[in-house]
Amino acid sequence: MKEENAGTSSSNERILVHCDLDAFFASVEILHRSLDPERPLIIGSDPKSGRGRGIVSTCNYAARAFGIRSAMPIGEAWRRCPGAPFGTGHYIHGTRGLYNRASRKVMAMLRPPAEHFEQAGIDEAYLDITNEVEGDWDRAYALCRDLQKSIEAHLGLTASFGIAPTRILAKMSSEINKPNGIFRMLPDETHEFFVERSLREVPGIGPKRATQLAEWGFNTVDEAYELGELALGRIAGERFATWLVQVVDGDTSSEVSPLRSRKSIGKENTFSSDEHDNERVLERLKTLVETVMAKAKGIGVAGRLCEVKVRYTGFETHTHGRSIPVAMDDVDVFTRLAVRLFALNVDHQRPIRLIGFRLGQLDMPPTRQAKLALEEE
Ligand SMILES: [Mg+2]
Repeated sequence: MKEENAGTSSSNERILVHCDLDAFFASVEILHRSLDPERPLIIGSDPKSGRGRGIVSTCNYAARAFGIRSAMPIGEAWRRCPGAPFGTGHYIHGTRGLYNRASRKVMAMLRPPAEHFEQAGIDEAYLDITNEVEGDWDRAYALCRDLQKSIEAHLGLTASFGIAPTRILAKMSSEINKPNGIFRMLPDETHEFFVERSLREVPGIGPKRATQLAEWGFNTVDEAYELGELALGRIAGERFATWLVQVVDGDTSSEVSPLRSRKSIGKENTFSSDEHDNERVLERLKTLVETVMAKAKGIGVAGRLCEVKVRYTGFETHTHGRSIPVAMDDVDVFTRLAVRLFALNVDHQRPIRLIGFRLGQLDMPPTRQAKLALEEE
């Protein structure tokens, strides 16, 4: 890390952080079950002593040392690292609720220093900390170190941080020193970062695109970049060329907003046996609305679309929706809308297998909108 290069950023330049928890599901399970972290832990479907047909959901670093990866067939994982009584592999099913709870605790610790915060997944988030550190990249590094330490001290989980001027660069940075790492990329270090860096390391470049470029003799980002936008555009398409040049120059988006990672928020409930009592279904629907609206408030978004989903016995499924003119995050408004949709559209004679509620057409909550409009004036 070149501390002497760190200055204070210019006014429109942002300091973004991408935080990504290390082997999150596996780490949570290890804590919860008091397992030995040095022992390979594989979370996924039943391996059936190597005859299982499912896949690996995720695994810890000890399992990764055996070459086990997410989405690998579980039988393949077993061949690499068998479970008892033949080997040391520990195979378990995941416990989703456990991860959600741990995730909420982590996010609550990450949110306060961020002027803009965006949870991008169960174990990752973007933070815009420009104001918090007054544009100072050294303070940004120190802040991430503090966050990393307190997450580990309070929750027993390790996280990796990437600090960079754009979203994509921050995301790539958080991978560099994983696990339990921090990597900071200063605005004038972006070109250097991409020297000899494989094209596949750039999120958004898939195997097809990488193969296409490799056929022309380009394997690294700097090789493709050196070609220039025009020439690169001729072999890989103009849009791609423009985008890649912007990525390397640090000119892609630095916007952090919960609206970027989410199109809607929803929750469904499947009854343990098909429900004949409509009142009970309606009560469940109201609970779903409350849960979803609390979540919307938590991440700071509102919505315009109210959607009620119903599945009858026999799997026939219908979705009924209604939009309001302004995005809101008011639980009463959406409860009324959902109840109305339920009363008007649902066949009350038929037993119900599943009920769901979804808040769509997400936007900033009205109060935030008003505040932003004022700030722009
Ligand atoms: Mg992760």
